Amino acid sequence: MRRYRLKISGIVQGVGFRPFLYREAARLSLGGFARNTSYGVYAEIEGTDAACDAFLDAVRNGPPPLARVVSAEAEPMEPKGESSFAIAASEPGARTALISPDIGVCDACKREVFDPADRRFRYPFTNCTDCGPRFTIIRDIPYDRKNTSMAAFVQCPACRDEYDDPSHRRFHAQPNACPECGPKLSFLVNGKEAAGDPLALFGAYIERGLTVAVKGLGGFHLACDAQNEAAVSRLRQRKARYEKPFAVMLRDLETARRWCELSPGEEALLSCRRKPIVLLKKRGEPLADSIAPGNARLGVMLPYTPLHCLLMENRGALVLTSGNVSDRPMIYRDADIPALAGLADAVLTHDRPIERRVDDSVAVVSRGKVRLARRARGYVPEPVPLRGCGRVILAAGAQQKNTFCLVKGNDAFLGSHMGDLDDPETERSYCEEISAFERLFDASPELAACDLHPDYLSTRFAESLGLPLVPVQHHRAHFASVLAEHDIRENALGFIFDGTGLGDDGMIWGGEAFCGSVAQSSRAGHLLPFPLLGGEAAVREPWRCALAAAELALGREEALELCENRGEAEVLLRARDAGINAPICSSMGRLFDAIASVAGVRRTASYEGQAAVELEQAADARAQGSYRFGLIEEGGTLIFDWRALIRDAWRDALSGAGAGAISMRFHRACVALVRDAALRLRVQTGCGAVALSGGCFMNEILLEGCFAALEAEGFRVYSNEAVPVNDGGICYGQAAIAAATIKNPASPLF
Ligand SMILES: [Zn+2]
Ligand SMILES: [Zn+2]
Repeated sequence: MRRYRLKISGIVQGVGFRPFLYREAARLSLGGFARNTSYGVYAEIEGTDAACDAFLDAVRNGPPPLARVVSAEAEPMEPKGESSFAIAASEPGARTALISPDIGVCDACKREVFDPADRRFRYPFTNCTDCGPRFTIIRDIPYDRKNTSMAAFVQCPACRDEYDDPSHRRFHAQPNACPECGPKLSFLVNGKEAAGDPLALFGAYIERGLTVAVKGLGGFHLACDAQNEAAVSRLRQRKARYEKPFAVMLRDLETARRWCELSPGEEALLSCRRKPIVLLKKRGEPLADSIAPGNARLGVMLPYTPLHCLLMENRGALVLTSGNVSDRPMIYRDADIPALAGLADAVLTHDRPIERRVDDSVAVVSRGKVRLARRARGYVPEPVPLRGCGRVILAAGAQQKNTFCLVKGNDAFLGSHMGDLDDPETERSYCEEISAFERLFDASPELAACDLHPDYLSTRFAESLGLPLVPVQHHRAHFASVLAEHDIRENALGFIFDGTGLGDDGMIWGGEAFCGSVAQSSRAGHLLPFPLLGGEAAVREPWRCALAAAELALGREEALELCENRGEAEVLLRARDAGINAPICSSMGRLFDAIASVAGVRRTASYEGQAAVELEQAADARAQGSYRFGLIEEGGTLIFDWRALIRDAWRDALSGAGAGAISMRFHRACVALVRDAALRLRVQTGCGAVALSGGCFMNEILLEGCFAALEAEGFRVYSNEAVPVNDGGICYGQAAIAAATIKNPASPLF
């Protein structure tokens, strides 16, 4: 007989881990017990050598689907003669156990929901230890029912029996519920509960072309019939969201296969338990045009709660977009339901409070890798590994697409996608969530990192903490985010093509090449700078970037002649001459805007990046030829000179070559630029690894093209996967740099 004590850490609470231990112990005739602790699960087992070994093997190699065992240490101890296994009460104390993200409904629960003989038949809140809400219902840890928004629901005897039965898949399933004892749906019209079956009322409203707000896991969605053009257009008007694509929920994988092109990787991602929105290529036009106008891609998700399964029962597709006006944060509190009145004709809600706003995640599959464009539901708060420094770090993130991150040990806990901090409601959530993370992960920041930009709210927040502060240049953070994600410790090259961010020299950067490591990188190259006419306003006026570039490439008179609105152009250039509101930038995002305008794809934009997205979609792979960037060496730095490229693009535009050809030739030029600059820098530095990051690399043609061209030259190429390539990944890069800085004896913070 042997006896072992086991310390198991990772995501091992709220995921059916102790029932799993119980079943394994019973199978192997082991005695002992298991209990939840602050760090995970503590267990003791007693039995034969072979049985103990088999148990340890199962823990390490075959845990339940949602569990993630980070470590399982076993230490021999004196046998006690125990022959039965028990689940002991949780131990209170310090908090390091990981919290599971919200998980899509499992097959077993789905079967019950559609089984007329089951007591949970058509019950929208069915869940078990393998699925259901987690992060969106947790108030405090340990993760016990009393610390969740299920606290108010007292389990009926039947549910209680499941909850107490170690062999049941609902053993200690904290959100366990049934029609007797759990949350209930209600259907509100004009703020009052309507009589009748809420699901039937929902169906009737949708069929009439109306919009219904639906309370989900992390907030309210707005739903309407995705095949009813009038319904979708009306929703756009009400949301004041005129062009940004809407996401759709499709009934099942079959439907998705019919309406979209699906690779095996995309199928797997779409149907995985995290259930993100996956950006897919449309096939045919069965859905309303105004869902994603002018866009070849469609954001698709499959039902991820039993409620969704019931809503999709008799239909193929619903528009399911976040419940907010324009770019404001999604509404998630019951108290804010009245604010939905202008957006929806009715509200399908329920009485289980949402503890925090968590948006849908957005992902693509590219080069066989899942790449997150927005990291939120299904992923948060699962940590991303990061080489820590022994101190707790809070990285404040950027301003747009903000996320923050808290590093403890070698785990980076990224907050859910916040959005743009200019919004006061977003700013409030930002501060609240940072406090919540500190509480949930029992981590008080000892060190903070932020952007160089003094006016970002995230920077001001970080400064207000009174901690040692590491300011991090925006694009170096992008560079470091790739190096840290792939744990690249050698010196590498980085190409960071982005919108705009403040540079070391006070200029606006965004088309940068770096050489170095997380700890130390130098600016090895950048785009030839041009003025942003009218400052940030140029983001929504791509024609201004085209004008500024044309002036430098062709001279003022010719540039003005090419302008459709010469009067306004002259005013902007005169202001620039007078030094008014025309900061100099080296932003690749803005050069994409310029080309989009030259190509006639888009001269004004309703959201940042719209012109670049449409330019990518316009690209015609059949077009021959390529433009060229010049590479000029100036004081040890490579300048990416686009002047000849702009002249060629204008010549094509005037000769009627078409947007497809102009776009394709420009994309090829960008790929060739990265390859040629990398080759030059490899000779100078010996670096054989290349990191690609920044918002422009959301562009598939660019990302795929750069991977292929660089790999053909023998480079090892990396980009972001677990954190977004856009500003949603900035916090992670900031944290990596802060951790590396503090470990450097030359640093004043060492
Ligand atoms: Zn389940
Ligand atoms: Zn019940």
